[in-house]
Amino acid sequence: MNSKAAISCSCGCMFQVGFQTSYADIPPVCPQCGLTMDQKSWEALRSTLASLSDFNYHILKWNSEFGEPKMLVPTITACTLED
Ligand SMILES: [Zn+2]
Repeated sequence: MNSKAAISCSCGCMFQVGFQTSYADIPPVCPQCGLTMDQKSWEALRSTLASLSDFNYHILKWNSEFGEPKMLVPTITACTLED
């Protein structure tokens, strides 16, 4: 199960990263201004993406094995103080 995150850079650019499709140890770089995400922040984001992938994986597994409701979470929207 793959998870992607939308990243909103301070320059106004919005771009997507997926931790399984990019080099896992290299933080994402803004395609517009070239700013690189902090390494610790990238590790925290990767952990979040992995958790979401695990969640959806288990929803599918529990649905097929135990008939539990198949309610996947394809996206999470964060509301920050800047919104
Ligand atoms: Zn940028």
